[in-house]
Amino acid sequence: MTRIGFYPGSFDPPTNGHVEIIARAVKMVDRLVVGVGAHHGKTPMFSLEERVAMLETIARDSEPGFDIVTYDGLTVDAAQKAGASLILRGLRDAADFAYETQMAGMNAALAPQVETVFLTASPATCHIAASLVRQIADMGGDVTEFVPPSVAARIAARHGNS
Ligand code: ADP
Repeated sequence: MTRIGFYPGSFDPPTNGHVEIIARAVKMVDRLVVGVGAHHGKTPMFSLEERVAMLETIARDSEPGFDIVTYDGLTVDAAQKAGASLILRGLRDAADFAYETQMAGMNAALAPQVETVFLTASPATCHIAASLVRQIADMGGDVTEFVPPSVAARIAARHGNS
């Protein structure tokens, strides 16, 4: 049986933290599907298409690779549509733990056949948050140590620094 994992998130923008979770997750499953959710209620820094394009660049450079889908509804529905038996999420700190365990419980109630698996962030990336990358970039700060080079280039282009 092919084990498919689904890694959902906003990826606005993809960070080194996301990339590390992806690199570890691809080793745990036969196929990894990264699900890029529409950012309901929030104004994203990057459009869905731009976030997918950034992840496609990362996927091209990854060995083994991963697939990318977009979704606009429940994560459990998108995971099942992708054929996934696992939802993968990253855990950085106690705040993530509190939120993620509640979410995993709700998702388990909605779709008991889909298991949520947590990967703890490494010390090298556990401080990285896409929301802080957006804030730093908005204020003209340097985000190159927090995101892949291709994402840093896109942010620089957005801010007229390239
Ligand atoms: P959301 O908007 O749903 O939080 P994100 O794109 O911010 O989505 O994150 C998607 C997933 O990646 C979440 O499981 C989050 O905990 C995880 N993640 C984000 N940043 C890191 C990081 N630096 N290290 C490990 N996991 C991370």
